[in-house]
Amino acid sequence: MTAQPLRRIPYTKPSITDLEVQYATDAARNGWGEHCYDYIIRFEEAFKAHLGVKYAIATSSCTGALHMGMHALGIGSGDEVILADTNWIATAAPIVHLGANPVFVDILPDSWCLDPEQVEEAITPKTKAIIAVHLYGNLCDMNALLAIGERHGIPVIEDAAEAIGSIYHGQRAGSMGRFGAFSFHGTKTITTGEGGMFVTNDPELYEQVLTLSNHGRARNQTKQFWPDVVGFKYKMSNIQAAIGCAQIERVNELIKEKQDILERYKKKFKEFQIGNYCFNKREENCEIGAWMTNVVIGHPSLNSMISESLQEHLKPLGIDVRPFFYPLSSVQPFQHLKPQNPTQWWSYKIPPSAINLPCAHGILSQEIDRITSCIASVVN
Ligand SMILES: *Cc1c(COP(=O)(O)O)cnc(C)c1O
Repeated sequence: MTAQPLRRIPYTKPSITDLEVQYATDAARNGWGEHCYDYIIRFEEAFKAHLGVKYAIATSSCTGALHMGMHALGIGSGDEVILADTNWIATAAPIVHLGANPVFVDILPDSWCLDPEQVEEAITPKTKAIIAVHLYGNLCDMNALLAIGERHGIPVIEDAAEAIGSIYHGQRAGSMGRFGAFSFHGTKTITTGEGGMFVTNDPELYEQVLTLSNHGRARNQTKQFWPDVVGFKYKMSNIQAAIGCAQIERVNELIKEKQDILERYKKKFKEFQIGNYCFNKREENCEIGAWMTNVVIGHPSLNSMISESLQEHLKPLGIDVRPFFYPLSSVQPFQHLKPQNPTQWWSYKIPPSAINLPCAHGILSQEIDRITSCIASVVN
């Protein structure tokens, strides 16, 4: 007789309450005709208030928000956009779709975000933007990046898909760059299933993206079916926005739980006396939303293969750990951008030693216990 398998511990899972169900039901029942934008407008207003920005446009994804924003900045054929090598492809794909070229720079070993010194070195006359991705909710060195942007007249864009709840010197992630983009994919801290948000404080950029987001029809265009430019179709639906309205009402609670999960892991790692490791880094005067708890075990320079052995041991036990992002310059579409000395890059050194730990809303303390004890048995 084999023992009853323990509950599978998911890597992420949204927190959906009666409130989300109630709003979504109302949108499905009543949100049509003259009410078809009600929840969208309400979600945008609530999101602006949370973030402290002037303008927000709900979108079908973060990728779409980035695509429209970069298009509005005039990024196109042959231009260059600088971003970190450690990243999800969603940040790089719209650059390629615009006919521009991503330029990858290395990350810093502790924040896992792009290294401002390398950003400045990578600037050429073709550079049209720098994308600051707040990886796993950690924060980029925004003061340095904004100063570089200003010195060279290059806009800094924030991909804050993973950084709801992260605060840099009093300002929320996503509110500091020329524009910011958020994701409400089902794995993110707040979700609408699929969805995103474009945010900015720049009134002209807002008007441009608003026009682009509505198939190129300007707000003041009175003629029906009369596009002013060729735009995009990246709108969020009212039903998704209804779920978003409930999530944003609960945003502080949802962020707090993510932060608590990170703290609970830290405590457990101490208790189990796991040797050398580091978790998501919180810089001084900053708060991190801790979307995804990550841990780097041992010293990355030792080039351990701990990530693989942890995945091998934990997955069969129903513990859904995931690999740290592979360097974009190592994946098929970008192999021509591989650095000459990849073994010197943190983007290559960290993933073999790092792992995403399950941090779903609703994870139980016993589960964090169980995960940590399994890790200890592999590592210690
Ligand atoms: C999730 C994610 C995206 C993509 O978001 P979508 O809403 O799926 O388009 C973009 N950038 C980063 C850093 C992400 O984590």
